[in-house]
Amino acid sequence: MESNRREDRVGLCARCVHARTVEALRATYWLCGLAKTDPRFVKYPRLPVLVCSGHVPREGGSDPP
Ligand code: SF4
Repeated sequence: MESNRREDRVGLCARCVHARTVEALRATYWLCGLAKTDPRFVKYPRLPVLVCSGHVPREGGSDPP
């Protein structure tokens, strides 16, 4: 249930191998690892990400690190 709500809010990043999360006091920030090497991507994507050419599904649907 919680996972479904998060995917609604975050979009594709919630299940992408390139995504990383940073936990802050009041929020979780989602970072795109592709932004380091590819200027087409931004470090902090505007959520929810609904379409993304870099999206690679995480195996088994596990949570991001
Ligand atoms: S590649 Fe796209 S879906 Fe994956 S983390 Fe970056 S912005 Fe999110």
